[in-house]
Amino acid sequence: MSVETISVVVTGACGKIGRHIVRGIAAEPDLRIVAAVDRKRVGQDIGAIAGMSPLGVAVADNLAAAIDSARPQVLVDFTTPDAVKDIIRTALRKRVACVVGTTGITPADLADIGALCREHSTPAIIAANFAIGAVLMMEFAALAAKHFDAAEIIELHHDQKLDAPSGTALKTAEMIRHAEGSLLADEPPKRDDREPRGQPVGKIRIHSVRLPGLVAHQEVIFGGLGQTLTIRHDSISRDSFVPGVVLAIRKVLTRDGLTYGLERIL
Ligand code: NAP
Repeated sequence: MSVETISVVVTGACGKIGRHIVRGIAAEPDLRIVAAVDRKRVGQDIGAIAGMSPLGVAVADNLAAAIDSARPQVLVDFTTPDAVKDIIRTALRKRVACVVGTTGITPADLADIGALCREHSTPAIIAANFAIGAVLMMEFAALAAKHFDAAEIIELHHDQKLDAPSGTALKTAEMIRHAEGSLLADEPPKRDDREPRGQPVGKIRIHSVRLPGLVAHQEVIFGGLGQTLTIRHDSISRDSFVPGVVLAIRKVLTRDGLTYGLERIL
């Protein structure tokens, strides 16, 4: 019996995450990379760039032309906060479903992307963190929110990361605030906003650490009477994002509109 394959274009394919994603997709029998787009290493074989045997797919720098010639069903994007919106717009207009890991996408952008998905009847999955352990960390933090009335988040990433706080930290704070029965749902008193200590999201403060040697790590620390609870997740290799991305590629074509968050498809 032949396996039905899903054809994929990867944008940001030559980047730090992109190369791991290319390797991860190439290892799956039901997924096929038909195009790779980046601003660098244009014309070179993406398989060789990702540290494998050549895949017979040369890196292109024009997404629209690459879609027209390779006809992918799904786009996977790990580029930059500046580039991602145009990339999603181009893909959705050409009815290519999107799986997006690039962070720094604002709530207003999400609303625009949701509208584009509806306009072009094409689905998208966007997740600030494709590491399944990180999604569980967020879920556990949301569970703790009805038992503790104080929490802070420390997110730690490599020093090349462009946005701060991380998308995962912002999403964790929102999940804690909106959890059922949360004791952290209220806005902080006005005077707290002047404290030069982390970034406030409601009552929760987020602290961002950027250092060489780190990959992606986060601690959510809850404080209560005579006790603290720390929930920590570490991505120790960029391969940690691959299983979540592969799952999203397999699921996206069965969804309607925009799905935000890996937890919605787990
Ligand atoms: P990176 O190493 O800088 O890779 C990004 C790649 O995209 C670079 O090769 C860059 O080229 C290329 N690029 C930029 N603009 C482009 C465009 N318009 N068209 C095609 N390619 C373009 O960054 P990274 O560490 O891989 O991270 C990529 C993104 O993923 C970041 O937003 C990061 O926060 C996010 N991320 C998400 C997750 C998750 O689970 N959701 C996990 C890790 C990282 P140049 O170098 O020439 O600019």
